[in-house]
Amino acid sequence: MDRLESLVNISQYYGNNPAYIIAGGGNTSYKNSEKLYIKASGISLATIALDGFVIMSRDELGAMEEKVYSEDSVSREEEVKKDMMNAIISPENLRPSVETSLHNLIGYTYIVHTHPTNINALMCANDAKAEVEERFGSEALYVEYTDPGYILFKKLRDQMKIYRNQFGTDPKIIFLQNHGIFVGANSAQEVKAIYDSVESRIRERKNLSLPEGGIEGYESEALEVVSGFYASRNLVSKAYRSPLIDHFSAGLSQYQKISRPFTPDIIVYCKSNYLFLEKGMGADAIAKKLAEFEEVHSYYPKVIVEEMAGLIIVEENEKSVNTVLEVFYDMLKISYLSEQYGGPHFMTDEQITFIDNWEVENYRRSVAKAG
Ligand SMILES: [Zn+2]
Repeated sequence: MDRLESLVNISQYYGNNPAYIIAGGGNTSYKNSEKLYIKASGISLATIALDGFVIMSRDELGAMEEKVYSEDSVSREEEVKKDMMNAIISPENLRPSVETSLHNLIGYTYIVHTHPTNINALMCANDAKAEVEERFGSEALYVEYTDPGYILFKKLRDQMKIYRNQFGTDPKIIFLQNHGIFVGANSAQEVKAIYDSVESRIRERKNLSLPEGGIEGYESEALEVVSGFYASRNLVSKAYRSPLIDHFSAGLSQYQKISRPFTPDIIVYCKSNYLFLEKGMGADAIAKKLAEFEEVHSYYPKVIVEEMAGLIIVEENEKSVNTVLEVFYDMLKISYLSEQYGGPHFMTDEQITFIDNWEVENYRRSVAKAG
């Protein structure tokens, strides 16, 4: 098989597997000595074709690795973005993935970066680092959470240098705390084999099963109040329950295990604040809560947890309701499974604020919505 055909195949393979990729997350690349083919921002891996990749100059990307950028984070992100756009060989109407420089850094032909549920159950848990060390030793590199973009790139570059000096080669497995995993190899087949082995090693001596039962819709008084509250703004509100949702809607202490985002992707789709409605609240009290939420956060709650009932999602249309449900439901799974590795570990307020203000993610969100 042609090397670029292999890239498209492996991209679709993981893109179509909801255990690895949900919503628009994840990205893939192929490189030779001169060019890097990287997934374009906002394009879905599930349906990607060769024209969904941006071809980048590796010389230009390499020059960015050593260049000194502004100390100020806003100017720096601007400068980096400009250099990144200048490194594009073709086409000029697509924007390369925000993780392009990470792909260029890892010295393997194929790189597949995903946010798998089971792996993130470990990456978003308190014992992430210790468990990675125990299960993977020097085979994997573990990178503590860092603001994405240039700061993460610099951190990975420095850790890679140390790894290379020590082991004479690049790591094929890179774990990113509260984010996901990069796997690199010189064939697509080997990438798959590594993913399988990572998954089985993470499962070892752990029970990664979830409460059984699917998601179904429900009606409730709270749903009626929420729908009525946003009706004039044409927002769609839907309510869902499942055994897994029941687990987290059972009470405030359960809700607290899903009350903050685990990863930047969750913020991109669901925002970083959610609303908990206590059981038995009347219509007026609910309306007051909704108004207060918006006053504090300047946006409406996309995710509302109704105690002893389920999850209410509010969004602009049916399609975006489904996306928020998909992403938040994955967060429930991650939180549930993280108990196997010391319990959930959220992003900090500072880390959350960075993502809220990051133009790159706003761009990705708007492309995903338009698509
Ligand atoms: Zn990512």
